[in-house]
Amino acid sequence: MTDFTEKTQSAYSYPLLIKNLLYSPVVDTPRQEIVYRGEKRFTYEQFRRRVCRLANVLVELGVQPGDTIGVMDWDSHRYLECFFAVPMIGAVLHTVNVKLSPEQVLYTLNHAEDDYIFVNEEFLPLLEQIKARLDMVKGYVVLQDEYRQTETTVPLTGEYETLLAAAPEAHAFADFDENRRATTFYTTGTTGMPKGVFFSHRQLVLHTLATLSALSSAAKQGRFHREDVYMPITPMFHVHAWGFPYIATFTGVKQVYPGKYMPSNVLRLIAQEKVTFSHCVPTILHLLMNDPTFADTDLSAWKVVIGGAALPKALCRAYLRKGVDIFSGYGMSETCPVLSLAQVDEDDLSEEQEIEIRCKTGRAIPLVDLRVVDTDMHDVGGDGRSVGEVVVRSPWLTQAYLKDKRNSELLWQGGYLHTGDVASIDDRAYVSITDRIKDVIKIGGEWISSLELEDVISQHPSVAEVAVVGKADEKWGERPLALVVAKEKVGAKELVRHVQGFTDTGILNKQALLLKVELVDSIDKTSVGKIDKKLLREKYLIP
Ligand code: AMP
Repeated sequence: MTDFTEKTQSAYSYPLLIKNLLYSPVVDTPRQEIVYRGEKRFTYEQFRRRVCRLANVLVELGVQPGDTIGVMDWDSHRYLECFFAVPMIGAVLHTVNVKLSPEQVLYTLNHAEDDYIFVNEEFLPLLEQIKARLDMVKGYVVLQDEYRQTETTVPLTGEYETLLAAAPEAHAFADFDENRRATTFYTTGTTGMPKGVFFSHRQLVLHTLATLSALSSAAKQGRFHREDVYMPITPMFHVHAWGFPYIATFTGVKQVYPGKYMPSNVLRLIAQEKVTFSHCVPTILHLLMNDPTFADTDLSAWKVVIGGAALPKALCRAYLRKGVDIFSGYGMSETCPVLSLAQVDEDDLSEEQEIEIRCKTGRAIPLVDLRVVDTDMHDVGGDGRSVGEVVVRSPWLTQAYLKDKRNSELLWQGGYLHTGDVASIDDRAYVSITDRIKDVIKIGGEWISSLELEDVISQHPSVAEVAVVGKADEKWGERPLALVVAKEKVGAKELVRHVQGFTDTGILNKQALLLKVELVDSIDKTSVGKIDKKLLREKYLIP
């Protein structure tokens, strides 16, 4: 019998380590650029040397394999350097969500047991408030765009650029087990304190390869290739900016990091640096549209993956008409994140048919086993109508919540990761999320999708933004309450009439007509820019 594990003594078992993602771009495209805010430019060759310098700084600070380094920064070349150098020396990168409340940031830093914190000077006041209660931190390195003396009570170990400049520019990165933890970060659920998730080198490498294969194999649209210019508009603390900095670096493309997001700056960078590929939540698209420079910015070469929330049809239409190749992606913090992409692979579709596909949740990417199941884990549908929970298996899913056995088992009940998302799946394997399990509104025993209702209301020309929550109702159990930011004066009756157009044609259940409408000035968002249903419920539903 053949022994498939037989291996000659000198054979090298190539481990799937993050350092190996750097191998080909540095060899193939050493002069390609990594740009920060249009102000600083580094070649890949310089980037590699800076990664080595940073590794040497970390070792000099006493960082050991298994230690955790917290990073608090806006999207920058420095962050990208940390994405590589920290895991490459065997340490764990904690991408700290800087938009959480100080108490939540404190909780995450202590819970992840951060040993060092690399902090943009903008967040020093936040650390000043909590530093006395930080249990494990041995030192702080400040990150600045331009060097200057910092007035702070945070005991700084040094400044990033000064430390890098003093460190040797070569580092021999050792091999180690590909299953070693590389990254960790926290996800804010609808209840309780944030929950920690974590990913290994092997998981991040496989996520990079599979997501890239789904993107680069697209024939018609939504394709990412070597001549693209990449810029994230999803924070690097949010699920590794959806893994795209690893994908872009591995592909060796020009990369642009925009710092703190300011719509006019983002639009300026897209135009100046000829950005062709980005990803963001729908809220960012709203912000860009409302910027005075939007109308005059040419976005016709721009491709953008929308995730984190459903892509509303009206928004999709507006961007398609501006020439943008816009389409949905789906995933969550627990899943590294990418699970599916909504790419169009048919010819001769009408605009409405294109929008229909681009706004779906998408088809599972390679190596993702995605099922839609009922409560007994039986597959439902394939008919595009029957709904169930999305459960998944793939090589890159968090294997547990950090130090949280109970929720970890709930997450992985029955050997599949439970997303908590409700979806249908059609005969072409396109998934459409209709709701979060906690978001569905139950009217007289019938479920109605708050997302679908939001999608319909957002198509009314007077509506700028909308969020729908379930309001307790004696008669119906719950009724949908639409919180609407109006572009121009619009009454509740008019919006109900608009919704009726969709109930008459059977697109929405009749229950949608029980809609109540409240006009509001703005809709609260979470730290990662999604509609904050939890806060909206507290604000508008609790008497
Ligand atoms: P997070 O862990 O903050 O990234 O949130 C993940 C959740 O965002 C998912 O479980 C979904 O509920 C939602 N989500 C992400 N992408 C999409 C999408 N394309 N359509 C609808 N909901 C989405």
